[in-house]
Amino acid sequence: MGELSRMWREMPSRYRMEGRKCENCSRVYFPPRDICPVCHRDSIGKMKPVDIAGNGEIISYTVVHETPPAFIRQKPYVLAIIKLDEGPMITGQIVDSEPEEIKMGSRVKSVFRRISEDGKSGVIHYGYKFTLEK
Ligand SMILES: [Zn+2]
Repeated sequence: MGELSRMWREMPSRYRMEGRKCENCSRVYFPPRDICPVCHRDSIGKMKPVDIAGNGEIISYTVVHETPPAFIRQKPYVLAIIKLDEGPMITGQIVDSEPEEIKMGSRVKSVFRRISEDGKSGVIHYGYKFTLEK
């Protein structure tokens, strides 16, 4: 029972992208930060949770051919730096597209997908990836 309620509590932050907004300077951080690196002390107690829509633009990308064993079924894959509409830049995998379809400046949106599978325990990890907005 304890395990189930723990999982339930973790659900919201795992299945949506939650960042933090500094109410002192309005900058948004993802992953969340407890202290704004710009405002430091002035941001204490002013970092508020904010939903990240998950839409953004590809700033740069690279096609990755070498992959660790857990990712073996999905190579090669594209790893991109994405500037989210809320401001933060994050690295994410682009799925559902051929590498040739991806360009700098392409619009993307986040989706929740299987990240990896632990062969021994059978545990499947999910997380956000990105697809091209069509
Ligand atoms: Zn700030």
